Amino acid sequence: MKFHIITIFPEYFDSPLKHGVIGKAISSGLLQVQPVDLRAFTTDRHRTTDDRPYGGGAGMVMIPEPLSKAIITTKAGKEDIPVILFSPSGRLLTHKLATELSKHDEIILICGRYEGIDQRIVERFVDMELSIGDFVLSGGEPAALVLIDAVGRLIPGVLGSEDSASNDSFATGLLEHPHYTRPRSFMGMEVPEVLVSGDHKKIEEWRRRKSLELTLKRRPELLDKAELTPQDYQILKKLGFKRDEQK
Ligand code: SAH
Repeated sequence: MKFHIITIFPEYFDSPLKHGVIGKAISSGLLQVQPVDLRAFTTDRHRTTDDRPYGGGAGMVMIPEPLSKAIITTKAGKEDIPVILFSPSGRLLTHKLATELSKHDEIILICGRYEGIDQRIVERFVDMELSIGDFVLSGGEPAALVLIDAVGRLIPGVLGSEDSASNDSFATGLLEHPHYTRPRSFMGMEVPEVLVSGDHKKIEEWRRRKSLELTLKRRPELLDKAELTPQDYQILKKLGFKRDEQK
């Protein structure tokens, strides 16, 4: 899968993409990340990418000409490549959306700066506006890194074992159970007995229970959409969860 990133800071992506599973996937060619320097599409001596807003007010707005040229050049005639603009007003990035995006061979990401970009670029070229949360960043670049990581790890082969993504929080519609590793006793706290029992059925039951408990406590709204078994409902009922099983 290939991510094109239109940005005024192409070097921003150098170091973060060298590490961990995403770094490895880029080295092996499973993922490709191509920053596109927006300033290369400017025509004036100062390589201007922003200007004052019509109507006045604070801040600057990214001008449309270099953006349109950068998008058209990056698409290179392949009209079906989706163009995503990072924006606090966009659709929220979720596991479900990351999974949908991971099915594309190529994606173009546009990183805004200042107050954002000229609306006519949104209307003409942008297929989806996307937000990574209800807060404001100073630019779309950190959001692009978040998207590349979240989407990239869903590409088959990027993670060590196929099932480590399928068990993660949200993939099952629930938050993931807690984890323990060595040592068995740490600062007077013991690893739960069941995890060292060797009884895989019991371990799976314990993990499912913990996952349900955590989801009910922290993100109860996720239970409305999660795929739950009759046993899950039994557990949840004991924990005080009230909802009609048939719903
Ligand atoms: N004036 C805008 C904020 C601009 S912030 C507003 O109030 O909505 C500058 C750029 O950072 C944006 O164009 C966008 O690309 C990026 N950005 C800021 N917050 C973001 C978020 N929560 N998710 C994704 N991108 C964000």
